[in-house]
Amino acid sequence: MLSEKQKENFWKKVQLTNSCWNWVGYKHRGYGQFGTQVGVKLAHRISYFLEHGFLPTDKLILHSCDNPSCVNPKHLWAGTYQDNMTDMSLKKRGKGPEKINQEIANKVRSSNLSCVKLSKQYGICATQVWRIKKGFHWQQ
Ligand SMILES: [Zn+2]
Repeated sequence: MLSEKQKENFWKKVQLTNSCWNWVGYKHRGYGQFGTQVGVKLAHRISYFLEHGFLPTDKLILHSCDNPSCVNPKHLWAGTYQDNMTDMSLKKRGKGPEKINQEIANKVRSSNLSCVKLSKQYGICATQVWRIKKGFHWQQ
């Protein structure tokens, strides 16, 4: 898929950080683009290919970090369109189990009890409680 020279050029366009490896080359809709002899390809897919030696044809390459310009293979996973939707709704809409509603979220936030105690009280996980308290979820 890529010659050694192209691989070299590919990595020249990547800025490594402690977490995400950001594509600094040409981007379209936030996604890195890289020109190959078989056309312009998505940079994160190339990175996945270089890491794993193959690209699943029936799956999308998704970002666990939600950073479309990231090409860190550790942040990339192969999933279906449905996986992507589920992942996005979990992360972005912050919809947890149906047990939580705004009223409970408000009680959680105003309570001085520990996350663990609250999680037992409302039957939700402690991380969820923490996220509510921090305002990541159910913010008004
Ligand atoms: Zn990343």
